[in-house]
Amino acid sequence: MPCSPEFQLDHAGLVAWLREEDPGALARLGAEADRVRREHVGDAVHLRGLVEVSSHCVRSCLYCGLRAPEEDLDRYRLEAEEILACACSAAALGYGTVVLQGGEDPGLTRDFIAEVIGAIKRQTRLAVTLSLGERDDEDLLAWREAGADRYLLRFETADRALYRRVHPSLPGRLSDRLGQLRRLRDMGYEIGSGVMIGLPGQTWDTLATDLRRFRELDLDMVGVGPFLPSPRTPLGGPGALAFLAPPALQVPNDEPTTLKVVALSRLLCPDANIPATTALATLDRDQGRELALQRGANVVMPNVTPPAFRARYEIYPGKACVGETAEACRDCLAGRLRTLGRSVAKGPGGRLSTLRQEMSLSAPHR
Ligand code: SAH
Repeated sequence: MPCSPEFQLDHAGLVAWLREEDPGALARLGAEADRVRREHVGDAVHLRGLVEVSSHCVRSCLYCGLRAPEEDLDRYRLEAEEILACACSAAALGYGTVVLQGGEDPGLTRDFIAEVIGAIKRQTRLAVTLSLGERDDEDLLAWREAGADRYLLRFETADRALYRRVHPSLPGRLSDRLGQLRRLRDMGYEIGSGVMIGLPGQTWDTLATDLRRFRELDLDMVGVGPFLPSPRTPLGGPGALAFLAPPALQVPNDEPTTLKVVALSRLLCPDANIPATTALATLDRDQGRELALQRGANVVMPNVTPPAFRARYEIYPGKACVGETAEACRDCLAGRLRTLGRSVAKGPGGRLSTLRQEMSLSAPHR
């Protein structure tokens, strides 16, 4: 069904929706995103077990609590057996995917990660998603050959000057996340990207460009969450003021704006997998995930990192569900999904496999 003219989303239309405050209009946007979500990816919600494999990081991103200059952190790197145990627990909990996320950590060597992927693939039927930052093509190729299915790499902001300021390149190596995303796609990965909402310096105009970029990149996964100030980081204190755009232009890092971006992402990328992110759940513990799932999201990424390590992976403070066991998270989520009238999806839940499934379902019976 074609979208009504209200939802024809050129750049000006996106800016207008992002700035919309009328409750009736926002309810229509949310309902349209929910309808498109149901039509394209159905009611089942994919659960991806998140393993925070390392809190070591060589980068100095101005927003992140794990940035290299933070010297007092008690950093860790999981052993291969520990990661494998997390993956097995994700499989036992009924999840279809394990996501290995970490700081940009050269200690996670090409061979180490390849061996971990191989072991997960031998011992489980899980899809493997990586989110390990900017890496050489040789690493990415080796991990793809070892069986990795997907890669998450947010481009963080389409504003190049802002990107360079908040995400400094390593010496002698220009940061090029868009280039890496395109190469990942060519290597056969499903690719995910996204931005933070309300990053100091992010304007409405930039955010509309971010949204258009999600579509241009034909993303398989789109992840957006509010920027949450992390103390001790340059953007976590008064220093952030120097980054802010003029008040009329600066995007707020709040829940209503994040929900608008989730809904618009669904309209622009109808068959993408879109998570209700932990950052949003951190901002609104009671309702954040539910509201996103009712406005276009179809994925949740429960944490399966051993609780002893979770508190040490502090990208931002107060992360939702940090103290919960993986089992408690699964049971809590399953209950919340039931209340929403949504089911837990079975299988790996990749965009391509879902599309294929749909095509075979809609093919005439012989
Ligand atoms: N090292 C990997 C994984 C980073 S964590 C990488 O750089 O890709 C995943 C995402 O968390 C980041 O891409 C960023 O968008 C988000 N993030 C980082 N710091 C944040 C903060 N203070 N508030 C909200 N989100 C944050």
